[in-house]
Amino acid sequence: MDEFGLISRYFAPLEIERDDIVLGIGDDAAVLDIAAPARIVVAVDTLVEGVHFPAGMAAEAVGYRTAAVNLSDIAAMGAVPRYATLALSLPAADEAWLSGFAHGLGDALRAAEVSLVGGDTTRGALTISLQLIGIVDGAPLTRGGARPGDLILVSGTLGDARAGLDVPAQGAGTAGAAWLRERYERPQPRLALGQALRPLAHAAIDVSDGLLADLGHVMRMSACRAEVELDALPLSPALRAHCALREAQGHALAGGDDYELALCVPPAAAAAAHACAVRAGVALTAIGRISAGAGVVCRDRDGHEVRPATAGYRHFS
Ligand code: ADP
Ligand code: MG
Repeated sequence: MDEFGLISRYFAPLEIERDDIVLGIGDDAAVLDIAAPARIVVAVDTLVEGVHFPAGMAAEAVGYRTAAVNLSDIAAMGAVPRYATLALSLPAADEAWLSGFAHGLGDALRAAEVSLVGGDTTRGALTISLQLIGIVDGAPLTRGGARPGDLILVSGTLGDARAGLDVPAQGAGTAGAAWLRERYERPQPRLALGQALRPLAHAAIDVSDGLLADLGHVMRMSACRAEVELDALPLSPALRAHCALREAQGHALAGGDDYELALCVPPAAAAAAHACAVRAGVALTAIGRISAGAGVVCRDRDGHEVRPATAGYRHFS
């Protein structure tokens, strides 16, 4: 199968017929009709086999994850994702792989009502670049804007994906272990929550590198300090059953790949934010506060600072 056959078979079906898509796959470029006052929000992510996902990871999971991690960036902006373009480099036209990949990608894109409108297909080492285009009607949610006194809120639970990475893809064992693996392979972009909290939150980020690292980015952009309470971190029952409390907390602070949202919200808006989370069907937990200063600090109940070892996630220093 040549490049064109492959595109029409696997990727053209991921296009959605919609009035705002003037030209999609098939011409030299896509043409999109954005309603005038809205702003365009663009994000791109590249996944390289062996670097961003383990070699041999199921194609369907690779496809799903490619879209989900990118959608998470759009969610963190409080924007509505609409279109995607896919630059795909693959060593051979392996149809079993392509079919699985397109399925997973299509699942995640359809769930977010995103249409694939173009891309590029080349031969080379397995590398996947997905660009997402969204819109925001008004001010986007950014990493800047957190203020002293804000509550730090986090969606869902943290640390699951890091634990899931250690669970073998086949034969996960217990239901809890399989769920953790699923949290790694199929992260849920918090689109509805990000959109609902856009007018309420001062700042937001999606947790991809690990909570402390990502809060650090927000604090740099906002020029203030995050104070996180160790005991307040939302941990899933599956994670608690999977490892010791200290390890679970280490995963939650530094494990990464959570794709939850961390938001800075003024106390006056906290009740409204929690109501939004209920409507979005996502847990939202207050884990600390913003103060004047710089950086991120995490304290246990005795007020002692805890710091996950930078070289590893298993131990606190
Ligand atoms: P060109 O040579 O003009 O760049 P291509 O031959 O690369 O065009 O692609 C033909 C059409 O197929 C274009 O509309 C392009 O956007 C689309 N396309 C190519 N690869 C992909 C892909 N992996 N997924 C979706 N659309 C693709
Ligand atoms: Mg091209």
